[in-house]
Amino acid sequence: MAKNGFKIIDSDMHVMEPPDLWEKYIDKKYRDRAPRGVTSKNVRDLRMAHPDGSEWARTPTAPSQTDTARGRNFEEKQVTFGNDAARGWTSEVQLEAMDHEGLDIAVLYPTRGLRAMVDERLDPPFAAAVARAYNDWMYDFCQRDPKRLIGAGMISPYSMEDAVSEARRCGEQLGFRAIFMRANPLVDHQWQSEYYEPLWDALEALNMSIGFHESTNTGRNQIGERLNPNFMLRRVFAQPLEQMLALGCFCGGGVLARHPKLRAAFLEANCSWLPWLLWRLDEAWELDGDVFAPQLNNKPSDYFRRQCVVSIEPDEVVANSVVEQFGSGNLVFSTDYPHVDSRYPEAVNYFLRLPLNEEDKRKILWDNCAAYYAM
Ligand SMILES: [Zn+2]
Repeated sequence: MAKNGFKIIDSDMHVMEPPDLWEKYIDKKYRDRAPRGVTSKNVRDLRMAHPDGSEWARTPTAPSQTDTARGRNFEEKQVTFGNDAARGWTSEVQLEAMDHEGLDIAVLYPTRGLRAMVDERLDPPFAAAVARAYNDWMYDFCQRDPKRLIGAGMISPYSMEDAVSEARRCGEQLGFRAIFMRANPLVDHQWQSEYYEPLWDALEALNMSIGFHESTNTGRNQIGERLNPNFMLRRVFAQPLEQMLALGCFCGGGVLARHPKLRAAFLEANCSWLPWLLWRLDEAWELDGDVFAPQLNNKPSDYFRRQCVVSIEPDEVVANSVVEQFGSGNLVFSTDYPHVDSRYPEAVNYFLRLPLNEEDKRKILWDNCAAYYAM
């Protein structure tokens, strides 16, 4: 494949899951509770519903998504993705989208599935079944071309025993290279808590990565709640701020110090804030690290450099300051196909126009991502 001489991995391409995924794939014991995808004139309708019709993981204070037109960008995306939707967002459609952009490999993250683990009616065994169903579907989806389509697995945050066994199944049986979680914790534990330790141990042993992926529109305890109903502002802040908090917990809270082989990505939330945040974390560690971070032998930014990546947006023109101040060794590329702020089908072209040299582009488009996903 390659484009303009660059081989390209999309660190975070999205699938659009079929509305009946969970009805078809979930353990039959849970079929009468399985979420259903909602469809409408919105070709990228990402809602899910309970069998009784009530919305799955609805944020009470947010305006409900409807199928009505919602402005210029919405209408443009209706056109850009209308054909892909009409064809059912199949794995052939996915591969053709990759061909349009010149992507060699894509690591696949969900769309509806980003809120699958958020619903209040989930109990731990049901949540684990919802995750297993998604992963089984994703495995089948990737079989169209398993060298180019790589899954990132869903795990339940409600039981670390379930999470560990599913991560193991994802790595050892399904061929996935990562698992994903939302950056805002869905359980009452911060990311540096003892609670998650078995999962971090397992990911190190499996040589798998954790990709943090927030979602703008929904989530318990999410910072974007404070901005409802202004979705424009919510989109600006919800994902970056949640990712910054998670990154801080990982680098400054001791997770990466305790797990030197664990690799973490903070996806779809820009990268231009990175130099400031790492400087701020390092300063905090100098001032108060002896009290609050005695297990950190190095600066938080050192752990970041050793074990983390952050994704750059194709049109993030201010990101050259990240490369100038921090280097390009921890950035990965994403098209964000087919989400509402994606530059598809021009995402790679946008990126290639950024004021970065060839060496930096090569690292961002391929080398860093290949290392992160251990490909
Ligand atoms: Zn994404």
